[in-house]
Amino acid sequence: MNYNYWGKFKDSQPEMRFDPLQSFIDDGQIFGFRILISSSRTSRPREYKRSKRAAQISDKNDSVLLDVITGKELAIVLDADGESIDLPADDARYHRLEKYDGVTIINKYPPFSQSIDEGRRENGIAMVAIPTKFSDTLTDSEAVYYIFRSMFSAIRNLTDDNLRSSVVFMNVGRSSGASLRHLHAQAYMTRELHGLLAYGFIRAFASNDECFTCKMANHKGIITDHLKQSIDLDRMIIWEDDNIRLIQPFAPIRLLSLRILPKQHINRVEKMSDDAIKSLGKAMSIAHQVLGNADIPWPNMKDHSIAFRQTNNSDDFHIIIDILSTIPLGGSETVDYLSVSTIDPYDLAENFRNALKNIKEIID
Ligand SMILES: [Zn+2]
Repeated sequence: MNYNYWGKFKDSQPEMRFDPLQSFIDDGQIFGFRILISSSRTSRPREYKRSKRAAQISDKNDSVLLDVITGKELAIVLDADGESIDLPADDARYHRLEKYDGVTIINKYPPFSQSIDEGRRENGIAMVAIPTKFSDTLTDSEAVYYIFRSMFSAIRNLTDDNLRSSVVFMNVGRSSGASLRHLHAQAYMTRELHGLLAYGFIRAFASNDECFTCKMANHKGIITDHLKQSIDLDRMIIWEDDNIRLIQPFAPIRLLSLRILPKQHINRVEKMSDDAIKSLGKAMSIAHQVLGNADIPWPNMKDHSIAFRQTNNSDDFHIIIDILSTIPLGGSETVDYLSVSTIDPYDLAENFRNALKNIKEIID
């Protein structure tokens, strides 16, 4: 089977380069910093106008993603509300998708492509999942649910021994890198995982005899990790229900960030139950609102990048979802993988819990 679906719409394929000074091969896979040079993406549609007036964004009716829904734009539709529509290798067609709530389509402007040589072709599938009704905010928990219900269904249908979702993320707001205003999430199905960051999560998981994420998601009180750090869960929990726990990270990657821990021990995102995806929508909505309304001495950030941590094979793991506010990187972050905070994360958690109390629209 030919897995090269990146270039269905374009002749020019992105080029992958590794920084030779910080990359290495471990267990047959390349790990390290990589860049995808994708010049065709400069021509992709932008709904956030390039303008000196930051607030100026285009009319929601101009959304190219909504044009897919109403049949004005060609698309390869992988999934609609859990129903398989097209296969990745099919030709693009005009669809009428208004009767569905969430759909997943092939990304017309894939940023990923083949690997550094023909012997290691990085084949795969790039997909975008969207709600069929206009939404541009994470506060809309239903829209988030529709996005991930469809995306995870598409991933389940296309997963095999050579192809699994390795990169899953969501950019919300113009400072997150999103080019489109309409709420959307992206997934990249590839054979391999390449990033040192993802590798760090996997190695940390393997450092524990029993799953530490299960403990963080389900226990109360003080727990001790494999580095002998004491973590007071009661002071970190912001919100939870039967499926999901939303916490202030013990050592936040970015200062204004929150972490979503599914309570069920699953290694890949597409194994999330329907109820858990509903809870995920609620948790994202709550996280978005508390990050934007907390009483903290930094600008309240409304834009986020959301990173899904998982394995890209059948290895044991427990998925983690990080909601990261889009703040500029400081010097230390560029020299080493570290962050600096003037506020104790436990105090930050207190602020976030207070913000949650003040939010009228608490979802039950
Ligand atoms: Zn677990």
